[in-house]
Amino acid sequence: MTRRCPLCGQRRIFRRWFNMLERCPRCNLRFERVEGHSAGALGINTAVSLIALFVVGVVGFIATYPELPLLPLVASNIAVAVLFPIFFYPFSKTLWTAIDLRMRPPEVDEVRPGYGEWIAG
Ligand SMILES: [Zn+2]
Repeated sequence: MTRRCPLCGQRRIFRRWFNMLERCPRCNLRFERVEGHSAGALGINTAVSLIALFVVGVVGFIATYPELPLLPLVASNIAVAVLFPIFFYPFSKTLWTAIDLRMRPPEVDEVRPGYGEWIAG
């Protein structure tokens, strides 16, 4: 959740907001571990964005009840639906990689020596 390498905690793993390095400069973990790896990040981003959209909708409804001004409510929901997935994109990548590492611990030859043993053991 901090845009760091989920294995070693390295900070600089993004060139830009959407551009993640192929490998971690410290532990050498390849972030796209298998083909289609990013589909998991996409799924997490979609799920969290839907939760954010739901929260904004409920809070907007409660805060403005009983007037329920349609235009501001729809505009705030559209803004969240468009902007939140963009904001959450890098977090979804590192979060999914962390989940993937828990489900499939790194192989010995997948990372530099000294990294990954704690998660595999
Ligand atoms: Zn790392």
